[in-house]
Amino acid sequence: MEKLKKAQKIIRIFKQKGFEAFIVGGAVRDYVLRQPFTDVDITTNAKPFEINKMFKAKPTGIKYGTVTVFFEDEEFEVTTYRIEEDYLDNRHPSGVTFSDTVLEDVKRRDFRMNGLLMDEKGNIKDYVFGIKDINDKIIQTIGDPKIRFEEDSLRIIRAIYFQSKLGFQIHKETREAMFENRFLINNLANERILMEFIKVLKGKYSKYAVKTLLTTEIADLLPGIKKGLEYINEQNLSLSVDLFFILAFTLNDSQVPLEWKFSNKHRHKYQTVSMLAKTHQSFDAYDIYTYGLEYCILANKVNFILKKGTNDENKINKIYEKMPINSELDLKLSSFEMLARLDKKAGAWVGNIRKELVEKVLRGELKNDKDILLEYVIDKVGE
Ligand code: ATP
Ligand code: MG
Repeated sequence: MEKLKKAQKIIRIFKQKGFEAFIVGGAVRDYVLRQPFTDVDITTNAKPFEINKMFKAKPTGIKYGTVTVFFEDEEFEVTTYRIEEDYLDNRHPSGVTFSDTVLEDVKRRDFRMNGLLMDEKGNIKDYVFGIKDINDKIIQTIGDPKIRFEEDSLRIIRAIYFQSKLGFQIHKETREAMFENRFLINNLANERILMEFIKVLKGKYSKYAVKTLLTTEIADLLPGIKKGLEYINEQNLSLSVDLFFILAFTLNDSQVPLEWKFSNKHRHKYQTVSMLAKTHQSFDAYDIYTYGLEYCILANKVNFILKKGTNDENKINKIYEKMPINSELDLKLSSFEMLARLDKKAGAWVGNIRKELVEKVLRGELKNDKDILLEYVIDKVGE
């Protein structure tokens, strides 16, 4: 709310200089819904260079007429009124044309509930039945949904994101256009699909959104996760982002399709944990040593979700706390001591036997005791 007040101060400054400005988009929608929000966007007829003269600002999407304004210790995205020209590839507007009227700026926005404006006094201007849609809990595009999705197919996934966030229904025509135009999302950069899809998973009403992904057949266009979506829909689950992807890739024979532009860290996580879930029923100290506590707990969780075992999180944590060693250096027999007692040249065998000692100690087959370890080594490789 504080932030809204600051945005209203910004609007007053614009007006003093003879410009128009309004708060727009998600903040106004969430204000009407009495929901918390953090981002406050402002739209104005002032051009980026004029905004720069009036405020401490840095260009963010200068190409699209957006600057970030720093005001009273907070950031605001300030965008110049614009009309989008034709989209050539359902992805990028071919150019940006600034507009002089706020109505045109409202009309280029995606959904009616996102087209609300608020002035410096807190009055709401609604050119597009946004308030009605919020009251009816309906998501629908501003204008013909088929055309709006052809212009920018990210809006198809955004509709599902807002359903997940707000729990609203998607209007029949908008929903039909999502289905008809679903293949256009293939034109989007995978990074953008991933970003939007992660937001879908995080929503409070993600269960509704998952249903929509399946019924509109958009799920078929998301490589490797359809089975995961079907499963959580059947079981009525909502999972964290990590758990969902691990579950999906476990059901999908643990392949992480390259199309998903995960960071290497996430790719490794999803690949390894889904492999672990498939190959392990339970987890011992050696598994925790090899794969790490986090991965073992996640793999156990996924198996529990898949009804392939019990929830062993506490048990795994206890095993972890009681691990006899945490690294090879914790072995009571050092490499130096081992070599000193054996009449053998150092070589690859040293590393191998020490790995074996680690495994035996962690599996409880050998005690971590100098004499016992030495006896095992002598037995194995000779004196
Ligand atoms: P959130 O709560 O996720 O921040 P938001 O409505 O603020 O929701 P943003 O992605 O922050 O969504 O975008 C801000 C505003 O910009 C939207 O409310 C909408 O008016 C407009 N907008 C964003 N993306 C698009 C798009 N792809 N097409 C048309 N308008 C868009
Ligand atoms: Mg926003």
